[in-house]
Amino acid sequence: MQTVGSGQYQEIRDAVRALCADFPAEYHRKVDEARAYPEAFVDALTRAGWMAALIPEEYGGSGLGLTEASVIMEEINRAGGNSGACHGQMYNMNTLVRHGSEEQRNRYLPKIAAGELRLQSMGVTEPTTGTDTTRIKTTAVKKGDRYIINGQKVWISRVQHSDLMILLARTTPLDQVKKKSEGLSIFIVDIKEAMTRGMTVQPILNMVNHETNELFFDSLEIPEENLIGEEGQGFKYILTGLNAERTLIAAECIGDGYWFVDKVTAYANERVVFGRPIGQNQGVQFPIAEAFIEVEAANLMRFEACRLYDAHQPCGTQANMAKYLAAKASWEAANACLQFHGGFGFACEYDIERKFRETRLYQVAPISTNLILSYVAEHVLGLPRSF
Ligand SMILES: Cc1cc2nc3c(=O)[nH]c(=O)nc-3n(C[C@H](O)[C@H](O)[C@H](O)COP(=O)(O)OP(=O)(O)OC[C@H]3O[C@@H](n4cnc5c(N)ncnc54)[C@H](O)[C@@H]3O)c2cc1C
Repeated sequence: MQTVGSGQYQEIRDAVRALCADFPAEYHRKVDEARAYPEAFVDALTRAGWMAALIPEEYGGSGLGLTEASVIMEEINRAGGNSGACHGQMYNMNTLVRHGSEEQRNRYLPKIAAGELRLQSMGVTEPTTGTDTTRIKTTAVKKGDRYIINGQKVWISRVQHSDLMILLARTTPLDQVKKKSEGLSIFIVDIKEAMTRGMTVQPILNMVNHETNELFFDSLEIPEENLIGEEGQGFKYILTGLNAERTLIAAECIGDGYWFVDKVTAYANERVVFGRPIGQNQGVQFPIAEAFIEVEAANLMRFEACRLYDAHQPCGTQANMAKYLAAKASWEAANACLQFHGGFGFACEYDIERKFRETRLYQVAPISTNLILSYVAEHVLGLPRSF
């Protein structure tokens, strides 16, 4: 079937598909049932070099853009897997590559490229402030050559399967800055070391098999050389990661969308009820066709967001819109797929209920649909600010 992006980046698509073929839906189902981490899968991706896609060649990576990274993520989800286990390394990478110092790039990138370190975590969300990111309460106070971190984060993913985390904290109190986005800073945290020096990790059991945690910081000391970029400018830098995250998750939803459409189309062609394939009924055809159209449209916006990101141009609007469209489209496709499988949609061995749960997450995280609508209303259309 011809879809947006078909035939483009074909070498990457073929290679990722070949790797994913060794990890069929049954593998991901078992990992999900065991609430485990797909260690063998992530190791295979790392060994094949995919997890170093965004690392420049001089540091041992392949120097690809977000566009190619998004194709990798799309193909994993399209093959029945879940990129949520490893997408952190993709969306965090440019925060370090673009804003880290030469010393930081030299310290971390070759080891990440070699698979000796994982950069899979980003700590932004807090329990008491939610989406109101600039009001976060975690503080980093400079003391000599160290920063002392105190506070709390929630929903911080892959901490138990990562070595490094990019952490957002306030370095200047909110009432002492002109703009609320000022006075925030980002740090690179050595997770294992932090766990022995004041960071506590409490796992959160959740609807998806997504390793995510509450973090508590009790006077955690971080060396000053772990500050990324200039102190107080962290909000600008973290947007590099957040825009990449939204765009990559759009691609993952697109992969999910095609997976659901393929699955339900095949089933609707073969399942015979009342003496004819269920797919002959327009009541069955139309929701599938509608979901497919929406996935295709979302895919165009995803490539536009990627293009701007890779050209170092402002892409916040497109990244948000791509994520909004793709998450909505994959959810429509998931609903149609579940509905037209009838009772079988609920059987774990069909993988639909698993993918249904996985794709549902993206209406809420990494940014909820309401917040995207409010961003577009205010920042693109110029409507009055509502909060
Ligand atoms: C499985 C999972 C993994 C995650 N991983 C990470 C991670 O690795 N790192 C990280 O930093 N965060 C992570 N998150 C957090 C995620 O980004 C947030 O949950 C998400 O941004 C929503 O924030 P919140 O949960 O605080 O919701 P809230 O901000 O409390 O919002 C709750 C609801 O109210 C709505 N709402 C709020 N304000 C408005 C408004 N003004 N107008 C209209 N509607 C509004 C929202 O749309 C939302 O539906 C993860 C979350 C989950 C569930």
